[in-house]
Amino acid sequence: MSTIWDVIVVGAGVGGLSAAIHLAAAGRRVLLLEQNPFPGGKLAQQFRDGYRWDCGPSVITMRHVLEQLFATAGRRMDDYLTLQPVTPYTRYFYPDGTQLDLSGDLPRVLPQLRRLSEQDVEGYLRFLAYTARLYRVVAPSFIYGEPPSWGSLFRQPLGNIRYLDGWRTMSRAIQSFRVSPYLHQLLCRFATYVGSDPYRAPATLNVIAHVELNEGVWYPEGGVYRIVEALTRLAEELGVRIECSRAVERLEIANEKVQGVVCADGTLERARAVIANVDVTSIYSAWLSDHSATARAYVRKLQSYEPSCSGFIMLLGIRGCHPQLAHHNIFFSSDYRREFHEIFVEGVPPTEPTIYVAITSRSTPQDAPSGGENWFVLVNAPPLGSSWDWKSMAESYAERVLERLAAYGVDVRAHVAVRQVMTPYDIARATGAWRGALYGAASNSPWAAFRRPHNRVSAVRGVYLAGGSVHPGGGVPLALLSGRLASRLLIEDGY
Ligand SMILES: Cc1cc2nc3c(=O)[nH]c(=O)nc-3n(C[C@H](O)[C@H](O)[C@H](O)COP(=O)(O)OP(=O)(O)OC[C@H]3O[C@@H](n4cnc5c(N)ncnc54)[C@H](O)[C@@H]3O)c2cc1C
Repeated sequence: MSTIWDVIVVGAGVGGLSAAIHLAAAGRRVLLLEQNPFPGGKLAQQFRDGYRWDCGPSVITMRHVLEQLFATAGRRMDDYLTLQPVTPYTRYFYPDGTQLDLSGDLPRVLPQLRRLSEQDVEGYLRFLAYTARLYRVVAPSFIYGEPPSWGSLFRQPLGNIRYLDGWRTMSRAIQSFRVSPYLHQLLCRFATYVGSDPYRAPATLNVIAHVELNEGVWYPEGGVYRIVEALTRLAEELGVRIECSRAVERLEIANEKVQGVVCADGTLERARAVIANVDVTSIYSAWLSDHSATARAYVRKLQSYEPSCSGFIMLLGIRGCHPQLAHHNIFFSSDYRREFHEIFVEGVPPTEPTIYVAITSRSTPQDAPSGGENWFVLVNAPPLGSSWDWKSMAESYAERVLERLAAYGVDVRAHVAVRQVMTPYDIARATGAWRGALYGAASNSPWAAFRRPHNRVSAVRGVYLAGGSVHPGGGVPLALLSGRLASRLLIEDGY
């Protein structure tokens, strides 16, 4: 007689690892199945010719979420993972040569803002207070709680509903602080942390600025992938059995109740409940729609939602050093609005992209050979669609990005020792992300938080969802929280 697990978790992204840890800490016997040869999903790393790159998330915020996860299991995060503060959080470069280092160190930040515009100092401080208040109202229901419903919204005190600021766009709300175009562009950028468009996303999302600007940015000593290694170690210590290179092909369902999963090698693994850390659109369309008319209807709904943006990535091994660059760098475009129009409306990558460059060898010299740097270059890109063919355009787009950097005075074209390009196709293939979207559905409408898929599947009993495409959303901390919520719902339901 084969083992019947209490819970099978499908997918070892951070949401799946978090779910497995919470369940094991609550005494459940857990099997975690991952299709790739290694855990982590979008949080991945690569090595080549003496260089190491984190090739997914690089900006880690909401440190307390990780700390709480370890505390749930009765451990101290510091025994597994050292999170160092990053200063500056980001170095911003503008096309006219203006430069700005943003951090939590106001005595350093405010004089720089004053040089942009006298009004930016007051505007920025008022904006920080506004985002902190937004966080107090938004966090309990939209980040830490169960998926919000219209009922839960109307149970809020009236003042809170006004503070949610859902009727203006992020850009409009930022403008109301009368900041310079430089600071406006910078603050709008936080929409991209959930793959959205600041000229359409509700001002509620200005809360993202709070978790970075007021709370800080962290870098795990040794690389962001250390987070996955630490969570894997914790899960295994708690008794979770992790099996990599085991893809799940479908759910085994009888009488509208899950019985386990069938793997690609044909084996059946039995369980009382399943948590899927797989993109929600894929789960409903490939695994649930054959079993329920409700699921079929929901697939159509999910497919009608606008996906969040994807990313065009270059991993560059650079010969030589660029002391003018920080750990995180942003090179802004001259027309931010046009950039988002191209991504979300035209479905093409930006003609003149804003470029993000992370250089972890600034913090961890071993990430590059001596005298070199490991550049992770990321440009926001449209989700996969018919308007752009990455297969034929990837290399020429890479040249365009390098040309743009050269225009900024960082011309590395003659100093590239290693170059690897990753397109939205690669992201979709490696992680199962629907249309290569980095963060599930976009949050480009005031209703987005209410439409985000629930962590409990109602069409089939015993199935729960964790990960960046379900509530509370994408990004490492939120995906971790989704795992906590999915496991909590599963336990409440008696599994
Ligand atoms: C380029 C990039 C940059 C990013 N930058 C940041 C950042 O700076 N900060 C931040 O907080 N977030 C960032 N993110 C987002 C963050 O990485 C994700 O939101 C988060 O890692 C998603 O975790 P997840 O739990 O949804 O799982 P995923 O990472 O989506 O992993 C899902 C796992 O399920 C596995 N799987 C899928 N199907 C199956 C199957 N059938 N059988 C078995 N296994 C399966 C996949 O192989 C994968 O390992 C970035 C993402 C990318 C790609």
